[in-house]
Amino acid sequence: MALLTVENLRTTFRTDDGPVCAVDGVSLSVAAGQVLGIVGESGCGKSAMSLSIMGLLPTSATVEGSIQLGEHQLVGMPKNELRTLRGSEVAMIFQDPMASLNPVMTIGWQLEEAVRLHQKVSRREARTLAVAGLAAVGIPSPEDRLKTYPHELSGGMRQRVMIAMALLNRPRLLIADEPTTALDVTTQAQILALMRDLRSEVDAAIVLITHDLGVVAEVCDEVAVMYAGRIVERAPVDELFARPQHPYTWGLLASLPGRNRAGERLHQIAGSPPSLMNPPVGCRFAPRCAMAMDVCRADPAPVLAAVAGSDTVVACHLDAATRAREGARFASDEESA
Ligand code: SF4
Repeated sequence: MALLTVENLRTTFRTDDGPVCAVDGVSLSVAAGQVLGIVGESGCGKSAMSLSIMGLLPTSATVEGSIQLGEHQLVGMPKNELRTLRGSEVAMIFQDPMASLNPVMTIGWQLEEAVRLHQKVSRREARTLAVAGLAAVGIPSPEDRLKTYPHELSGGMRQRVMIAMALLNRPRLLIADEPTTALDVTTQAQILALMRDLRSEVDAAIVLITHDLGVVAEVCDEVAVMYAGRIVERAPVDELFARPQHPYTWGLLASLPGRNRAGERLHQIAGSPPSLMNPPVGCRFAPRCAMAMDVCRADPAPVLAAVAGSDTVVACHLDAATRAREGARFASDEESA
């Protein structure tokens, strides 16, 4: 059963130049113990969606639709109730740990405060939980680390501390927004391995936001591909890699480094995403799609529809045979690797 169910989410920012609809009618769900990847280029709305779920948007934003977390409806929930939920039932990991860690307080103080904010425990018990939390994310000599300040740790260690902090109160939902983007390749692999372990150990639902399908292949069960504020394809991760259906997904797969010969420049999707203030009529990917037809540039935009014989849904006007034939050129064994 789904722990998080998002239905018809619309997030709009008021700006001096007019409203910008960053998330436009997104629906998705994720169950406990499941990792859902949300993938897409910068500005596709994936971070706006995660901030909508966390209730961390600026006051210039309005959120419509439904975000149901267990028994809680988050849309319209008073700010103080949302604050209580954050850190206890839902936690977030950001790309930049320094954005969440206080540079002038020790790691130990910050972890203990995070525990005591949500659990009625003594300082000594909070310290025990903090040490266990650091050990669980593979930090050596966790007791000694409690005395250190964030700047004394490497980027990878800081990211581990932030993951430990996010998990301290056993949240039911963990949102990780580009958690490995700023890290070197080796540390990135370690953090992804850690997230894979957490998936089975902590029975939380995890939403992993990334621009990188390689990261999705490492840890996700399901993936939603976002483009210009909308989901254009959603599939179990093995199906997405074996039978990708949407031309935008094909472009993302083609740009995976492993698919290129040594020295060859990585494939890039031509053009750039549209302005969300004035998005194109019809399919928003049409200006960049090599297969666009007249129908693609007219209303109504294609809506998500089931692909026969699979658990995939896709929003594209191409017929099934063309999608299967063209998609086969981009299929990858990445996920099973
Ligand atoms: Fe390309 Fe048309 Fe499909 Fe959009 S609907 S992805 S433009 S073929």
